[in-house]
Amino acid sequence: MKNIIVQKFGGTSVANSEKIKNVAQVILKEKNKGNSVVVIVSAMGHTTDQLLKLADEVNTSPNPRELDMLLSTGECVSASLLAMALQAAGYKAVSMNAMQAQIITEKAYNCARIIDIKTDNILKHINNDEIVIITGFQGVTDDNEITTLGRGGSDTSAVAVAAALNAERCDIYTDVEGVYTTDPRIVPNATRLEEISYDEMLELARVGANVMHPRSVETAKQYNIPLRVRSSFKTDNLGTLILGVEDMEIRRTVTGVAADLSQLRIVVCDVPDVPGNAGKLFDRLAKDDISVDMIIQSYARKHTNTNDIAFTIDKKDLSKVQAIIDEIKQELGCNNILVDDNIAKISIVGAGMIDHPGIAAMMFKTLAANDINIKMISTSEIKISCLVNEKYAKEAVKALHSAFDLGCDEIAEVKGTLPE
Ligand code: ASP
Ligand code: MG
Repeated sequence: MKNIIVQKFGGTSVANSEKIKNVAQVILKEKNKGNSVVVIVSAMGHTTDQLLKLADEVNTSPNPRELDMLLSTGECVSASLLAMALQAAGYKAVSMNAMQAQIITEKAYNCARIIDIKTDNILKHINNDEIVIITGFQGVTDDNEITTLGRGGSDTSAVAVAAALNAERCDIYTDVEGVYTTDPRIVPNATRLEEISYDEMLELARVGANVMHPRSVETAKQYNIPLRVRSSFKTDNLGTLILGVEDMEIRRTVTGVAADLSQLRIVVCDVPDVPGNAGKLFDRLAKDDISVDMIIQSYARKHTNTNDIAFTIDKKDLSKVQAIIDEIKQELGCNNILVDDNIAKISIVGAGMIDHPGIAAMMFKTLAANDINIKMISTSEIKISCLVNEKYAKEAVKALHSAFDLGCDEIAEVKGTLPE
């Protein structure tokens, strides 16, 4: 059997008919090397946003099932058009929706997880030498309900299909040329990385590098599928290969720097220093599905026998927290809870930092040299994050990128501008 290559094209790559024809050429290049090609597509351009807006116009809290019925149509349009473009070029191609491709998910509308892909149907078409185009982002439940995987979910569809078909490689074609040491909109001489490990990519994805959907990287890691993030407009450029750390050629101490502006900090002041209070607090938050990222409990003040517990949450969960603030105060016996939403989480990530002392010190010294105060610190094996005032986010990223010598001589091509 031929090698199977899975290619995924994002919304910008299939935004109009010209671009769809361009994508057809990219697919044919791989096909003409003698490979079997399976393609996953996103909806054209901003289709998903437009569909969400339409839904909102008729019902401000649409039924999740109906929302998935609606959103799944976006990918059907691009998949069938792409199959037609390939047929027009003289090739055998077939589009398949999630039901036809048997991408089975749990029954959780709007955020379903893939639990199985029954590949018989897909393989039938592959064996008939057809180029198979599958709708990304959507799935089907055991009882034939249509689901979607959450925004950006077609990356995950691609990786899951690649794993199920035991594909040679999964290429994620997008509008950027790969994964960079930091956002080139902040640092113009950011370097494109030739390789990055799954874990580094996951950490970067979680702290604001919006290149890949984190769940897709987790799936790739689990099945050890090499992912290549590359541009659908500059196909000679090999982009960035995401792979297991054991397969990497070079392991840098610091691979990338990222800023995450999506969080806010909550400080619960003067919490009585008795066993059980932290448990109560985070249990209450978990009950409302509020996930917490950084957590710091201060050293207990002897004279009052209290301490402060500070943590960060996603800004979108603020109203949920506000609704339970009084309850928390009562339960913990404290009367002051502060909310600070002018924060940025600045992180440095690198698989090689494990066995290199001094990286944290370098980060703190660099921020200090730029007069940037650190409000909170957290670390993992391959990441160090500092919370700083939001207004210093760009400055902090620039300073760290240069302190760890991550720049190159070239100026990266920049897509779009940074939201202010
Ligand atoms: N079309 C979906 C979205 O815009 C899925 C994707 O593009 O990955 O979120
Ligand atoms: Mg996407």
